[in-house]
Amino acid sequence: MTAQKIKSPSTPRRPSQGNRDFRNRTKRSGKSPDDHKNMPRGAPQPHTGVATAQPCITLMEGREKSLLRRHPWIFSGAVECVDGAPVSGDTLPVRNAQGEFLAWAAYASSQITARVWSWREEEAINTEFFRSRIASALALRRDLLLPSPACGRGAGGEGMRLIHAESDGLPGLVVDQYGDVLVMQIGSAGVERWRDTCADILQELCNPACIYERSDSDSRTLEGLELRNGVLRGMLPENVEVTEHGLRFKVDVAHGQKTGFYLDQRDNRALTETLARDKDVLNCFCYTGGFSLYALRGGAKSVLSIDASEEALQLAQRNVELNGLDASRAEWQCADVFAALRKLRDQNRKFDLIILDPPKFAPTAAFAEKAARGYKDINLLGFKLLRPGGLLFTYSCSGGISEDLFQKIIAGAALDAGVDAQIVHHLHAAADHPVLLSFPEGAYLKGLVLRVAG
Ligand code: SAH
Repeated sequence: MTAQKIKSPSTPRRPSQGNRDFRNRTKRSGKSPDDHKNMPRGAPQPHTGVATAQPCITLMEGREKSLLRRHPWIFSGAVECVDGAPVSGDTLPVRNAQGEFLAWAAYASSQITARVWSWREEEAINTEFFRSRIASALALRRDLLLPSPACGRGAGGEGMRLIHAESDGLPGLVVDQYGDVLVMQIGSAGVERWRDTCADILQELCNPACIYERSDSDSRTLEGLELRNGVLRGMLPENVEVTEHGLRFKVDVAHGQKTGFYLDQRDNRALTETLARDKDVLNCFCYTGGFSLYALRGGAKSVLSIDASEEALQLAQRNVELNGLDASRAEWQCADVFAALRKLRDQNRKFDLIILDPPKFAPTAAFAEKAARGYKDINLLGFKLLRPGGLLFTYSCSGGISEDLFQKIIAGAALDAGVDAQIVHHLHAAADHPVLLSFPEGAYLKGLVLRVAG
């Protein structure tokens, strides 16, 4: 990976009030989102326009409502015009149709035209700004007495989401800690511009042995960013581990999914452990064995775990060994869950506790209908495989499916499966994944624990 030095981004501090200079304005409607497609990404990007007007985003008349409610995204449909010749990653002031200041935001030539950094006109978006936002994200974890408030060398393998993007005031930046390794995931042009600054600050405040970058999720292409996967600072230790409620998990930072591990399910996994004693457990979409290990430690009679990834299943089995758990009670199946559930139904297999934790079926609301069919399908089959009095732990991590809709889908699945069920728990991501009140999209993970009638 090439380490790129990025020049200090242009950060206009005090734009002229009510800039009404329409020279060099770009009508959004006439501008292709691909206008900057051929520019080198991540490299210093000089302003290209000649004698531009003050770079600025102006919203259409009356389209500032969501910004006034402090939602941090500005969609292209709300933008009247973009002044000057900004390039993706530039910090621009956002103004209403009357020219009044609304926010500082990072511009991107994508469907989300800008993501807000700050609502305060006097705030400069500079290194100090990022230091202060990162420090307050770390302080939140410390104040909540979450494990490992301070990371750094010698930290005992604790796992923690240190920065949760929009909800920590840093749109597009996720940082997960696995012991003394930090994994950084950048999903926006704005953070991309400040990547080295953020890495330097994390190094300074957390002193990890390694900062690894996993900026390789497909959503980056929507922001016009290239995919990147590699060491940013330090050296990646051969063995990365995370300890969670006393259980140890090996984490494949470079090739695992997302940043390597699903920290968001930490507390929900612990709940499963308390309910697993003497049960036949089925864990669908088991990844590296998260729920399976908790169920085994909780005294489950048997645990069948299914995932489509052979690598994940291998790591899961090593994790069972690592914790000295009884492998004879664990069965692993590499299969497509949709097909495997049907097979289990046809074999008339029954379980007392079933976990369904599928990947994101609906990244946005546009995919909701198709996703709903997927959720209904697996949950219907799940209900059918449960013995009377059995428990279903069912999750959705789709941002495009609301909690309400998810509950309706599950109700439909129970109805079609011919079972009566009660909700006994509403579950969410752990506290190191806070949700900004003005950004409900941050509440992407929802779960229900249901008990079917005995
Ligand atoms: N419950 C896990 C996280 C699940 S992530 C934990 O606690 O860590 C989703 C998992 O679903 C991934 O491991 C992925 O490999 C798997 N997956 C995705 N589609 C699948 C399918 N159709 N059948 C089986 N597994 C699938």
